[in-house]
Amino acid sequence: METLYTLLTFVVLFGLIAIPYWRRVARHKREAAEKFDKSQRMGIQAPITLHPHFDLTSCIGCASCVRVCPEHVLGIVRGRPAIINGSKCVGHGLCADVCPVGAITLGFGTPRQGMEIPYYDDHYETNVRGVYIIGELGGMGLIRNAVTQGVKAIEHVASARRAKQLDDLDVVIVGAGPAGLAAALAAQEKSLRYVVLEQEEIGGTILHYPRQKLVLTQPVELPLFGKLKFTEVTKEDLLRVWQEIVGRFHLNIVTGQKVESIHEAGGRMLVRTLTAEFRTANVLLALGRRGSPRKLGVTGENLSKVMYRLIEAESYKQKHILVVGGGDSAVEAAIGLASQVGNMVTVSYRKEEFVRLKEKNERKVKEFTDSGKLSVLFNSQVLEIKPDAVVVQSSGNIVHNLANDFVFIFAGGELPTELLKKCGIKMRTTEIEAQAVAA
Ligand SMILES: Cc1cc2nc3c(=O)[nH]c(=O)nc-3n(C[C@H](O)[C@H](O)[C@H](O)COP(=O)(O)OP(=O)(O)OC[C@H]3O[C@@H](n4cnc5c(N)ncnc54)[C@H](O)[C@@H]3O)c2cc1C
Repeated sequence: METLYTLLTFVVLFGLIAIPYWRRVARHKREAAEKFDKSQRMGIQAPITLHPHFDLTSCIGCASCVRVCPEHVLGIVRGRPAIINGSKCVGHGLCADVCPVGAITLGFGTPRQGMEIPYYDDHYETNVRGVYIIGELGGMGLIRNAVTQGVKAIEHVASARRAKQLDDLDVVIVGAGPAGLAAALAAQEKSLRYVVLEQEEIGGTILHYPRQKLVLTQPVELPLFGKLKFTEVTKEDLLRVWQEIVGRFHLNIVTGQKVESIHEAGGRMLVRTLTAEFRTANVLLALGRRGSPRKLGVTGENLSKVMYRLIEAESYKQKHILVVGGGDSAVEAAIGLASQVGNMVTVSYRKEEFVRLKEKNERKVKEFTDSGKLSVLFNSQVLEIKPDAVVVQSSGNIVHNLANDFVFIFAGGELPTELLKKCGIKMRTTEIEAQAVAA
């Protein structure tokens, strides 16, 4: 009797632990399959940067890769690993590190759809002599890679000793993200005459990370400064370190200067912004892949009430606001603005539903639209922006004339391809395996 009682207790205890566990596992599998199917349907499965490729013949389905991914990019779908949140992949490669059977490699594009990246050689020099491409613009993500490439490119610039004319710079570095900043340190260490031109502020893509985002990186050696030792650091602390470095070594950086053209004339390169021209022997392009905000190209877009970034939602109260776009940035801005007193916020999105949203944003946007705090016009496009109104067309050719004080446009970024093409840099569409960058 006692044995039976013990057995029954064991079975009940086992059930209490095992059933919720199995349910959780089943729920995760179901959710992963749903996300995977949705991203396949929308054609957004492959991340634009470096991302995992799986060798399914070696994979043992242990899900170590899924558990280790800090961005929750991977899931097990019908017994196999798959990318279920492609837009969130930043190419850390932790998945490849932990795979016990080496079934993961990092690469670009997909077997069916390649990715367009610029041509450059082992020294990061493009087909245009003296013009280099470093960092994420070359297709390889991650801060450490950007830093390493910046330093190596400058080493080549210094050793090539390209002939320059009196008063010309040795190198113009375009972009003050991790690649450009590391290149500036290397240039300073080598006593090269250089300038960094940055269209926004110092920091590059890191400036645009969400507040308090934990940045995962590997220690990396910076010229003059020494080792950047951390493996985990908040966005704010990392930016503070960069600022300190810029100040301590008096790096020659000019912000608010967007480079519009680069061309060769009389044996030197001419780099032009809207307000200045720089003569140089070499150019390092460290533009990243965010590019410049994509414009809608509609009448009235040049009005000062039109913006491409929201800094302080709290500054907007009792206003009529249109937010254009359907990604996380657009939705987060819309929610932030709709939370302020008296704002009437409308989102205009060209697709029939939101497809790339973080779960938190998906939940919030539903809550806000259900409660009437936010209106969303799907399948819609802006026709015109007027000083006090916006004209938006939605499905069935319905035209909305909305009262408007501000327009925020989050329509993605224009790839810097135009600038590269103007420089004569060749592009290649390719699916290539990542090559580890020797530190
Ligand atoms: C959300 C998110 C999270 C990430 N998390 C991590 C992480 O945890 N760890 C990690 O290692 N990596 C992470 N990454 C990737 C990392 O941020 C990038 O790989 C890295 O910033 C690339 O550096 P970069 O210098 O090549 O380019 P960027 O940082 O993009 O900098 C390019 C700079 O060039 C400027 N520029 C562009 N065009 C012009 C022009 N015409 N004239 C003048 N200036 C111009 C831009 O304004 C920008 O400041 C993350 C990326 C994202 C989007």
